[in-house]
Amino acid sequence: MSDHIFKDAIERVKRIGSQADVSLDVINSLMHPHATLTASLPVRMDDGSTQYFTGYRCRYNNLLGPSKGGIRYHPDVNRQEVEALALWMTIKCAIVGLPYGGGKGGITVDAKKLSAMEIERLSRAYVRAMADFIGPDTDIPAPDVYTNARIMGWMMDEYETIKRVKAPGVITGKPISLGGSLGRDDATGRGAYLCIKQLESKNKWQPHNITVAVQGFGNGGYHVARLLHDDGYKIVAISDSQGGIYSDNGFDVDSIYKGKQETNRITALYCKHSVCELVDHDVITNEQLLELDVDILIPAALDGVITTKNVKNIKAKNIVEVANGPIIGEVDHIIAQKGITVIPDVLANAGGVTVSYFEWVQNKNGYYWSLPEVHNKLATIMNQAFSEIWDISINEKVSMRDAAYILAMRRFDKAVSAHGTQQYFSN
Ligand code: NAD
Repeated sequence: MSDHIFKDAIERVKRIGSQADVSLDVINSLMHPHATLTASLPVRMDDGSTQYFTGYRCRYNNLLGPSKGGIRYHPDVNRQEVEALALWMTIKCAIVGLPYGGGKGGITVDAKKLSAMEIERLSRAYVRAMADFIGPDTDIPAPDVYTNARIMGWMMDEYETIKRVKAPGVITGKPISLGGSLGRDDATGRGAYLCIKQLESKNKWQPHNITVAVQGFGNGGYHVARLLHDDGYKIVAISDSQGGIYSDNGFDVDSIYKGKQETNRITALYCKHSVCELVDHDVITNEQLLELDVDILIPAALDGVITTKNVKNIKAKNIVEVANGPIIGEVDHIIAQKGITVIPDVLANAGGVTVSYFEWVQNKNGYYWSLPEVHNKLATIMNQAFSEIWDISINEKVSMRDAAYILAMRRFDKAVSAHGTQQYFSN
């Protein structure tokens, strides 16, 4: 999949761009990543040997502001994937109205095989390689798959050491004690949850009748499952990289989270106080989870999981893309023919970058907000973006994904026109 991911992302931009009624300059500007830096990262391993890892950082587009996007640690990371993810960040920041362009980074590594100290040395090596490429006013990284607040803290520390300044705004998703924002930890899941609440009110759902399957139980997947469960939604399936569990009766999300923290496995637990017991369940694969007949499917792990191979078996009525790029562009029309409502990644997971933006604003001002303030501001931005996209989708009879891209492209169009287009110069 990864080899085709960038081409697939570009094809989607071209297809939707042709309906967006925007200058060709906009579409062209989205075809070309501005700059991607590839670097070898030498790391001293615990046994004294030196290993070389490959790191990437892409500053895709800075039309609306400095580029912004996470850093992923995964064995499948490659340049095409990083550039596709950076393109999606460009669209995402525009639809939620942030003063940012899009960027992304990654290291090709199986982080599970490294010790904590090796991960620290690798993270610092990444910043040493990228220190002149990132910066609080040029390109601002954040966490993504298999990176977290602790890693962001190490990266900020390395950057400040190199530059000999305090620069907390160079990276977001940091620990609170190092200038992180309250509410950043669950922001991605909360943003997706806010989208589902909007769907709930449009469709007049009763949460206890609504079944949900979640693929991926990390930062995004866990928090959206937890918030939905607290509202009475029935979380019938959960998985991680090792496989999943299913129960018609639904699971207690926090009990499963507790089990995962302790054993590093998804286990069908119900815990009361400190006593946990196993509840009735079926063991399922990640492939089976995706094909469940549920009201809401939430892919919250990796890209390219719904493809030409399995799209015909997808039975969910709604798909909320917490992961970036879980549905490939090639099957967009089949998903539409099946009548599945998709809340696209560029909207569904935009809560993460929105609270990252809040963190950056707070760092720049040196003035920090309370948790209710963060939650209220996040809800205002997410609800506004949802309703703008919903309205385009209804008025122009297009899918929510197409509507989201159209909204972003019209914002780019205004900025491109302000710089002066071909039409401006020829008149
Ligand atoms: P994470 O590292 O916290 O969790 C990833 C989860 O996916 C883990 O539970 C892991 O076991 C599982 N997983 C990995 N490979 C899998 C596989 N092959 N099948 C099933 N599960 C698998 O990562 P995260 O931050 O939650 O990111 C998940 C997705 O959300 C990614 O696509 C990421 O780009 C996207 N996202 C994250 C953020 C953020 O703020 N963290 C923001 C926007 C989008």
